[in-house]
Amino acid sequence: MSPVKTKAKRASSKSVQLKSVSAKSKASAYDPLEPKRVAEILKRLDATYPNPKCALLHKSAWELTVATILSAQCTDVRVNMVTPVLFAKYPTVQDFAALEPEQLEPDIRSTGFFRNKAKSVVGAARKVVSDFGGKVPDTMEELLTLPGVARKTANVVLGSWFGKAIGVVVDTHVYRISRRLELTKSDTPEKIEQDLMRVIPQEKWIEFAHQEIWHGRKLCFARKPNCVECPLENICHAADKTWSTVEIHKNAKP
Ligand code: SF4
Repeated sequence: MSPVKTKAKRASSKSVQLKSVSAKSKASAYDPLEPKRVAEILKRLDATYPNPKCALLHKSAWELTVATILSAQCTDVRVNMVTPVLFAKYPTVQDFAALEPEQLEPDIRSTGFFRNKAKSVVGAARKVVSDFGGKVPDTMEELLTLPGVARKTANVVLGSWFGKAIGVVVDTHVYRISRRLELTKSDTPEKIEQDLMRVIPQEKWIEFAHQEIWHGRKLCFARKPNCVECPLENICHAADKTWSTVEIHKNAKP
């Protein structure tokens, strides 16, 4: 091999090395939690879903508690078909407290897991009546004493009814979208909530969860998200995007 060719080969291999080093350092420099990126996500969600409201129909803290219990493993649309009839039949928390769970089952059957849900709703009603004078309590600690109420339901009631940002609601949409957007790598709702509480400013906790829930309903579907229409597209690197103008991160899984 001529010295010229050898030199050229060395130079080209050096350039390949440099490129790969610079690609590597670019990848390692990427921080999905960089405050500027998080602020941009929040800004675009605000622009797309201004003043978002809770997707579950309700007229009181009690109705919202029931609707949220029924929404486990069920769509909000289905819950919203069931609850108006239910609350017309049993208008007060005392009406629910007077039922046996079996009496409630036929009315909530279509929301799935209806036996457990009936037990939770009747149990929660009895506790609200016996321990809280018929009023749904407004603290996390007290809400968690109600049967069938875990952090997600408590956060929904505290945020959407009482306007208290104590935590972040992590439902199936928030779980999926926060992982796609690399705001968390965790895989349990409890850990994801803690991660989001660190990354999202507290004054946005209530709104942010509503916005991700609406985003999940409108565009960022569990299967085949509508990325081509998504306002977050060029800052989203989700592994399962259906269309992308930016690089895909294989670990950004829903
Ligand atoms: S670009 Fe696609 S995957 Fe990413 S947030 Fe938008 S809809 Fe979801």
